[in-house]
Amino acid sequence: MNNTIGIHAGVWIGAWTPENTTLAVERTAAAGYDLLEVTGTDPTSIDTTFVRSELDRVGLQSAVSLGLTFDADVNTEDAAVLERGRTRLEQALALAEGVGAKYLVGCLYSTLGKYPGPATWGARRNAAAAVRELATEAQRRGISIGLEVVNRYETNLFNTAAEALDFLDEVGHPNVFVHLDTYHMNIEEGDLDRPVALLGDRLGYVHVGESHRGYLGSGTIDWPRFFRALVEADYGGPITFESFSSAVVDPALSNALAVWRNLWSDNVDLARHAHAFIDGQVRSARAGAAR
Ligand code: MN
Repeated sequence: MNNTIGIHAGVWIGAWTPENTTLAVERTAAAGYDLLEVTGTDPTSIDTTFVRSELDRVGLQSAVSLGLTFDADVNTEDAAVLERGRTRLEQALALAEGVGAKYLVGCLYSTLGKYPGPATWGARRNAAAAVRELATEAQRRGISIGLEVVNRYETNLFNTAAEALDFLDEVGHPNVFVHLDTYHMNIEEGDLDRPVALLGDRLGYVHVGESHRGYLGSGTIDWPRFFRALVEADYGGPITFESFSSAVVDPALSNALAVWRNLWSDNVDLARHAHAFIDGQVRSARAGAAR
């Protein structure tokens, strides 16, 4: 287990202006991370050439993440919304390719938001078909697709690892894996280790977020249990820190995630702390496994 340690750009910046891009890239590298997760919620707003050259300048890897929106969704039976959703996914894939990312992850199958009712079979079928199409195109470009399992207030399609596996079977494409996030697992799963064991090598991307999305270790997540499960599953993919505060506002993302309060203001301290925390958890989980 020799994982890439990443950080979500939401720790640093909202919109991807040139100044913000440089700031996010330099602070990510300075805090010791290997990977910067680029928020692709508004994929055509980003200057991919500049982002890529800045990442390359400091030697950082990248991933792109996004959630769909109610006006451009694939978890729908509305033909016009579906078409816009598929276009959004194509744009996100182009963004991932443009910045040199090897991973396109997040809520790629659904709006990231509270649906008024359960998913319909037709919407589910459309979502699976759109993900299959995306996965085929992504494979040609050497990019893996990760479907993030999020809580019931942020999608109605699936909310647990077991349900995600059912959906993966419906998609039926080898270039699609599951993306787990401890913040969502804490809401929906019975514990933090069995979902990891259940997924095995179909787990391809991990977000570590505290129960309130603030400093790691200051909430109720059972971190030793989660990291032990990753080590026991021999998980080799990225581990990306995700945290949100009203101190950094992304116009396209903060409201969807219900970021209403200020959990931190010093993002440099937060990021350094998170890197040391993840590193420490991985080391002690490995040491425990070796005993
Ligand atoms: Mn997440």
